[in-house]
Amino acid sequence: MEHIKIRLMGQTLTVEVDPDEPDFGAWYSAAGKIKLNASLTPTQQGATLVHEILEAVKSENELRISHSALSVMANLIYAALRDNPELFARIIAGEEVFG
Ligand SMILES: [Zn+2]
Repeated sequence: MEHIKIRLMGQTLTVEVDPDEPDFGAWYSAAGKIKLNASLTPTQQGATLVHEILEAVKSENELRISHSALSVMANLIYAALRDNPELFARIIAGEEVFG
């Protein structure tokens, strides 16, 4: 199965594309793994990855937020990243954002 490693919450986690994943994606806490459904488009994969990252943050920190609130935040974060790639590239590179 195709997989990548990501850094999150001070840990290295696995993100795996799985043809048997029944949902769009899921966070598997015990395995430290996010699985994405193999039939998703690249855009859906990206949005689902952001969603599952928030699911991981929620579960590992025992945050009490509803699934609908988590979904709204995930969609807005994904859209902010997608719609402002140059800004986030500069932020990540540690460059000046203003001026
Ligand atoms: Zn969810």
